[in-house]
Amino acid sequence: MQREQVAVVTGASKGIGKAIAVALAKEGYLVIVNYNGSEEAATKTVDEIIANGGKAKAYQCNVSQYDACQAFIEEVVNTYGGIDVLVNNAGITRDGLIARMSEEAFDQVIATNLKGAFHCIRFAVKTMMKQRSGRIISISSVSGVLGNAGQANYSASKAGIIGLTKSVAREVAKRHITVNAIAPGFIKTDMTNQLSDAVKENVTQSIPLGEFGTPEDIANAVVFLASEQASYITGQVLCVDGGMAM
Ligand code: NAP
Repeated sequence: MQREQVAVVTGASKGIGKAIAVALAKEGYLVIVNYNGSEEAATKTVDEIIANGGKAKAYQCNVSQYDACQAFIEEVVNTYGGIDVLVNNAGITRDGLIARMSEEAFDQVIATNLKGAFHCIRFAVKTMMKQRSGRIISISSVSGVLGNAGQANYSASKAGIIGLTKSVAREVAKRHITVNAIAPGFIKTDMTNQLSDAVKENVTQSIPLGEFGTPEDIANAVVFLASEQASYITGQVLCVDGGMAM
């Protein structure tokens, strides 16, 4: 019997990750909704997917921890028989100017955003190599492509995602696994809600399409990169940013 198609989405309790989980469930994937602290929100994501006829399961795992990711990914593989799509979406910001940035703020952002993606890829790629198929999609950022004042830690983590993506893409291409990154611009979520109205206004001026994007704009790009139509695309960074990085 053919097993269920499985998609793991990290940081899927809210925001962009939630929209990705909902969209992949609509495509027929059994979606593993990963979260760190927001159990209630993750359960809500799962309930919404199930109410719409989809399949999903919530799993707690702090992606910044190597051993926890190993246990998480191995449990998914043992339970469902494989992983077809891995979306590295979990991310945090600890913004500040470089001259005042604490070592902790730098380390926390790298540990979650960059090492978190490394940890999940490190273990998921083993099952994908055995399958001789798979899709790895990591969420970078326009800040990783262009840099952004006040985000040295975050930009470094997101630029790191791009290097990680291109190197892994080269390593696993022969096994029919594609590895790509999406670089969102400014998207309406809790992360950007923290910005002051003045900053939001300033940012909006720099977006050629003239407005913030939605989590669904990113989810649409993930669905495409996960699809059969994208099977000849690997090692790429798809900017979904209203034209910011052109
Ligand atoms: P968000 O609303 O703050 O959601 C972040 C998600 O990441 C939450 O589900 C959170 O889960 C999870 N998370 C955080 N730390 C985690 C950890 N250690 N382990 C597992 N999960 C963890 O953020 P968002 O705006 O949707 O951003 C999603 C991704 O897109 C991030 O990688 C972000 O950098 C990137 N991005 C966002 C924008 C934007 O404009 N919003 C632009 C470019 C890139 P818990 O609440 O359970 O901790």
